[in-house]
Amino acid sequence: MHIRIADPWGARTPYRRGEEWPVRIDEYTEGAVDSWVQSACALCSHGCAVDIGVREGRIVGVRGRGVDRVNHGRLGPKGLFGWQANNASDRLTRPLVRRDGQLRETSWDDAMSRIVERTRALLEAEGSGALGFYTSGQLFLEDYYTLALVVRGGLGCNHLDGNTRLCTATAGQSLKETFGCDGQPACVHDIEYCDTILHVGINTPETQTVLWMHELDRLRGPDRPRTIVIDPRETTSAREADVHLPIRPGTNLAILNGLAQQLIENNDVDAAFVERHTIGIDELERIVSEYTPERVAEICGVPAGDVRRAAEILGEADALLTFVLQGVYQSHQATASACAANNLNLLRGMIGGPGRGILQMNGQPTAQNTRETGCNGDLPGFRNWQNESHVAELADLWNVEPQQIPHWGPPTHAMEIFRYVEQGSIEFLWVSGTNPAVSLPDLGRIRSILARDSLFLVVSDAFLTETGRLADVVLPTALWGEKTGTFTNTDRTVHLSERAVDPPGEARPDMDIFLDFAHRLDLRDREGQPLVSWSTPEECFEAWKECTSGRPCDYTGLSYEKLRGGSGIQWPCNESAPDGTERLYENHVFATTASSCEDYGHDLRTGATLSEEQFKALGAGGRAVLKAVHWMQPEETTGAGYPFALATGRTVYHFHTRTKTGRASELRAAAPGPWVELCADDAQRLGISEGVIVRVTSARGSIEAPARLTGVKPGVVFIPFHYGYWDVAADAGPGGRPRAANELTPTAWDPVSKQPQLKAGAVRVERVP
Ligand code: SF4
Repeated sequence: MHIRIADPWGARTPYRRGEEWPVRIDEYTEGAVDSWVQSACALCSHGCAVDIGVREGRIVGVRGRGVDRVNHGRLGPKGLFGWQANNASDRLTRPLVRRDGQLRETSWDDAMSRIVERTRALLEAEGSGALGFYTSGQLFLEDYYTLALVVRGGLGCNHLDGNTRLCTATAGQSLKETFGCDGQPACVHDIEYCDTILHVGINTPETQTVLWMHELDRLRGPDRPRTIVIDPRETTSAREADVHLPIRPGTNLAILNGLAQQLIENNDVDAAFVERHTIGIDELERIVSEYTPERVAEICGVPAGDVRRAAEILGEADALLTFVLQGVYQSHQATASACAANNLNLLRGMIGGPGRGILQMNGQPTAQNTRETGCNGDLPGFRNWQNESHVAELADLWNVEPQQIPHWGPPTHAMEIFRYVEQGSIEFLWVSGTNPAVSLPDLGRIRSILARDSLFLVVSDAFLTETGRLADVVLPTALWGEKTGTFTNTDRTVHLSERAVDPPGEARPDMDIFLDFAHRLDLRDREGQPLVSWSTPEECFEAWKECTSGRPCDYTGLSYEKLRGGSGIQWPCNESAPDGTERLYENHVFATTASSCEDYGHDLRTGATLSEEQFKALGAGGRAVLKAVHWMQPEETTGAGYPFALATGRTVYHFHTRTKTGRASELRAAAPGPWVELCADDAQRLGISEGVIVRVTSARGSIEAPARLTGVKPGVVFIPFHYGYWDVAADAGPGGRPRAANELTPTAWDPVSKQPQLKAGAVRVERVP
């Protein structure tokens, strides 16, 4: 076993508060390297800068970039080994089309002609509402911006969303609700300045390995920050914490309201900050007053004394840094809970300064770009679909009529797109760079939707995924390292990733495929010129810069040339901030004016959209919005028949549905199949020991996998969601031995962010005879 599989975080390089994190260059290559090509890792949202090692036209390794602000040379196991997928023998090299029930190789011309013919026929017969596009959080900015222009500006279609709906829709939404706009207030360097870190539903040692190295080196330094972890599992970060609050799944909001209640009761609120820079304190005080430590203990299943202790630590903090991730986002009352985490920093007046801030983390590597470009809900450049002048700006930029850009209602979210396919109103669905047949909830339902006779399914991917197997047309795509483009990590750092090698066979970059689609459809602007004016990634990036000019995500000070050679650079980057911007809201003026905000906000309980008038009536005018609502019981609760609460999640060795990491030999060997985590007491009661095969059943389906006895909270079952069926025997799967965690999860989503509840549902566990 490679040392970095056994020890994912490598050797410690401790440092003290205020010092820069030391550089450590991590490298893994297979043999000699002829040349190094600049890039960044695309296997999680941390976006670590790497050089790709090339020999004789093949990728043979990677090396961390020591000059980069994000990772200072470090790489985690996925970064070190994930590139092996590029060289996998089962890459798609030619387009496939379904003939006589079988997928068969064909030419690009034939495949694209079929797609364009079906698109034209549906547009003529039924309009753009019959089309749907479901993209990724793993493509490049240039791929997304091209897709957004083609779909929203060219086809006038509102049914475009990304799989970022599953990972970070709540991150973006909570930032919009509280601060008026998406974009992380803090940055990773804040780890170097904080004295307290609050982790809510985030397992950084496994989800963002290098972020954990940054944090762990502070924890091993002479003045370690105090840490609080809210997580039902006893994770590595929980074992390092001063206080671990192992709450019941579905109770995030109660514990966060309880911490706010204690800050207020203990007089630990920065009253001057709250008075000057926020609105909503009276309503917040009224609501959280009901969440005493005793009541929180009852709801969440944690000791009241631990709630008090955690609140004391927050109250004593000089610089509080808060991390939030899917434990919040994929749960019951997701946006309300993420906003409740924002509330804690605002109550303490800790935002916009060194070590003081919030990272509502992303999951996927390029999720930030999916959101910025309008492939995940809002309009490109963080524009507000309800704001007519934002729509007009975009129409001018694209040279189309404003009514061509759909904005009569909120852009259709992914779960709704799949429902429209189920109901038959969407008859054409193009899935790019993602695998809903494994990643969406309630897989039995999703498979039947994707297999509908009335659906024309297009899949563009580098491999024949579980979704691709159901497609009518499959298009082979270039992977990272085989195309040039940019992407932006969770703390707004933009990296350039250069093409290091050619894609295999006839595989093409996604941007080129979308351009081909637009040209074949002859999409034109209002003066009869081709709608998409660019043909190279760099030309697209220049057009994107124009789209962001004057918006919070301003890229106008960036260029490919500026991104070459040194570190990635954070947006906003423009004339007044030519080197980028470390932290947002340093002046405590937030993006909450009606003319600038990306969203007018929602009722957090029902999800109802606020109108412009309702938003103006709030009177935020540049102040942050404290939003609070009461905790409610999850829709599906445990009880007779299904006594365990289900939580799904990630392992350090894999990413998404293992399309790439499952083809990297070290990563595959490290975690070859799924498992079911139970605590020892629950296991003993059920007669289950380590490694025994168990069946987990919900109201929707069941899976079988070996048991693993861990420190998960009693009454909770944890299952990694990465595993589907592409690499197992034919008898595995729904009719044989199912193993995908999402066979179990419910069709339910947060009313505000529309993020599916992938960490929810009730299950039973039994030993397989
Ligand atoms: S932390 Fe994320 S971006 Fe960095 S090497 Fe690991 S997978 Fe890649």
